[in-house]
Amino acid sequence: MTKLQEKIKSHFPHLNLQFDFMLSKITYFKVGGPAEVFVELKEEQELIDLLSFCRENKIKHLIIGGASNVIVADDAIKGIVIKYINSDISKVIEDDNFSIIEANSGIKMPILVSTTVKWGLTGLELFLGVPGMLGGAIYNNAHYLSDLISEHVYSVKVLDCDGKVIWVSAENCGFRYDHSRFQNSGEIIMAARFKLKHGDPAESQELIKKATEYRAKTQPLGMPSSGCIFQNVPNNDQLKKQFPQFVEKEFVPSGFLIDQAGLKNSKQGNIEVSDKHAAFMVNLGGGTTNDLRKLIHKVKDKVKEKFGVELKEEVFYIE
Ligand SMILES: Cc1cc2nc3c(=O)[nH]c(=O)nc-3n(C[C@H](O)[C@H](O)[C@H](O)COP(=O)(O)OP(=O)(O)OC[C@H]3O[C@@H](n4cnc5c(N)ncnc54)[C@H](O)[C@@H]3O)c2cc1C
Repeated sequence: MTKLQEKIKSHFPHLNLQFDFMLSKITYFKVGGPAEVFVELKEEQELIDLLSFCRENKIKHLIIGGASNVIVADDAIKGIVIKYINSDISKVIEDDNFSIIEANSGIKMPILVSTTVKWGLTGLELFLGVPGMLGGAIYNNAHYLSDLISEHVYSVKVLDCDGKVIWVSAENCGFRYDHSRFQNSGEIIMAARFKLKHGDPAESQELIKKATEYRAKTQPLGMPSSGCIFQNVPNNDQLKKQFPQFVEKEFVPSGFLIDQAGLKNSKQGNIEVSDKHAAFMVNLGGGTTNDLRKLIHKVKDKVKEKFGVELKEEVFYIE
């Protein structure tokens, strides 16, 4: 046992700590090395206590949700990786026109969405197919086509860096495409509130059906991946000249540029650029993070060379 493993075990004997836990077992990409300590927590107070302990003792720590948007290094991950699985959800305000609902960050996105639809609320339907949990969706401001989850957020409950639990209103969350303030603030997302209008459950189901069918048609859903590896690219004069079909658009899809660069089906080891959606990379079985990172570099270099734009990762690296 390492010193850290011993220390955490002696302070938190009641927690189900797992040592040298292979993160590839839980990442969507099926890559990633062992975490020195891994733990799933359901209780808010357990999370607060463990994080305070880590901060006081300067222990490297990281919180993950569904691990669908992370690329974990092949080597050992020092410190503690925490998965918060508190999935409580409730209505907090009911008005004639809308309701405010609150969900803990460990709720899975499909459960959050199906519960709101069951309650006759509308707004979140397009996010049913976003894998992972609410905390991860808030962290990266999950989007589907042009709908950003932040457009429905009322406020976010966080554990701040001083160990205080505070609510941050949506306007103060620094939301924009693929971004929230939580990517830089070190705050831990505990829960979020959404303001949702009353809707017709049948119409909501129809929206969900269409979005699910479209995803299945356009994404390699049966294969291990992290969804889009790259963010869409801010449009510019050069791209508008080359690709007039996007002239009115704020962003050019990264998958389109990767495809135009002839990179579909490019391979490194057992990682491949998907031929169904070129912004996706898929693990053909036994692929490693090392291979994935090499392929990411190759794609970035080629797209830069062809179109003069820098692709930015949408995924987050854990090392
Ligand atoms: C097949 C497929 C389809 C996808 N489709 C979409 C899509 O349509 N739209 C979209 O936006 N994304 C999509 N994604 C990407 C991904 O599912 C989303 O970004 C998702 O919201 C990530 O949630 P997660 O719980 O898995 O986050 P994780 O991968 O676990 O974490 C992502 C980041 O968030 C941080 N984080 C997680 N929880 C917390 C918390 N409670 N507090 C603080 N930080 C936290 C982590 O440290 C990490 O840096 C897709 C992925 C796949 C595999």
